[in-house]
Amino acid sequence: SADTSKTNSVAKIKVVVRKRPLNKKEIAKNEDDIIDTHSNSLTVHETKLKVDLTEYLEKHEFVFDAVLNEDVSNDEVYSETVEPIVPIIFQRTKATCFAYGQTGSGKTYTMKPLPLKASRDILRLIHYTYRNQGFQLYVSFFEIYGGKLFDLLSDRKKLCMREDGKQQVCIVGLQEYRVTDVETINELIDKGNATRSTGTTGANEESSRSHAILQLAIKRSIDGTESKPLRVVGKLSFIDLAGSERGADTTDNDKQTRMEGAEINKSLLALKECIRALDNDQGHIPFRGSKLTEVLRDSFMGNSRTVMISCISPSSGSCEHTLNTLRYADRVK
Ligand code: ADP
Ligand code: MG
Repeated sequence: SADTSKTNSVAKIKVVVRKRPLNKKEIAKNEDDIIDTHSNSLTVHETKLKVDLTEYLEKHEFVFDAVLNEDVSNDEVYSETVEPIVPIIFQRTKATCFAYGQTGSGKTYTMKPLPLKASRDILRLIHYTYRNQGFQLYVSFFEIYGGKLFDLLSDRKKLCMREDGKQQVCIVGLQEYRVTDVETINELIDKGNATRSTGTTGANEESSRSHAILQLAIKRSIDGTESKPLRVVGKLSFIDLAGSERGADTTDNDKQTRMEGAEINKSLLALKECIRALDNDQGHIPFRGSKLTEVLRDSFMGNSRTVMISCISPSSGSCEHTLNTLRYADRVK
């Protein structure tokens, strides 16, 4: 049917790289832009030292589904990543969009506008294409910090997770808001992001140690009217991952930092394995590897779509982290 072909025309896994512009700090330090981008590939020019301490350049080439350079706007990022997925959410699809990269690479800058644009399009589809038919849009926003769940729309209330008998993930006590206009969703996103970044200590750096998960759920009543009960038709999750460099904090002097680093490392590795398993259509998806992948369990099963946006800094000072990010993205696909 037309519906099925539409669903099938969207790639199951898409990996996109976004390069941000050099920032003031990097320019002040005279750091070079070491990334050349082409339409779907890029080259990293790494400066290395010989034994006699003379410098030489080593080139690293990567190919992805798309490479978005520093001139690409957030609107274009949306068209390239999430926009094609929105219509198929109405067809029993669960989709997930991740932002991966080191702290300061542009994850939050990239991720923040996406759920707003997606909600705008979802609400349009509900009103004009489906003429309501009982479809409703819900939003929730929570974070995973040190392997624990906190509600970002409910003063960081601690949450716990269980699976219902039908392999659906249920987060007990998670606040879900019904959304009928974009202003409301904008306010909720701002509220959640503010709660996240001021976190436990008020330090901005806290946000780099947590995964923030914003979920848009399309629900519909069994009889297609506004009356209950509702069931989930499709889900779109936006995940602003912890800074990838945090996974290396496993030798830090502070025990708390070490434990958090180990948890982040575990979750990013588990995520990679789950996405790889999806791509290979393996029956077994190793979601039990971490809280992050457990929470996303139902998004990895059945008819799913995954978009990974890998964010990178262009600067020579970030070369090692950038190569790590690109290698991770390369292995996902
Ligand atoms: P992260 O969430 O990965 O730690 P941020 O999204 O907070 O990084 O980005 C770090 C800084 O760089 C912010 O000040 C942000 O506004 C800026 N920035 C990131 N990406 C871009 C971009 N593509 N264009 C312009 N500024 C950007
Ligand atoms: Mg951030």
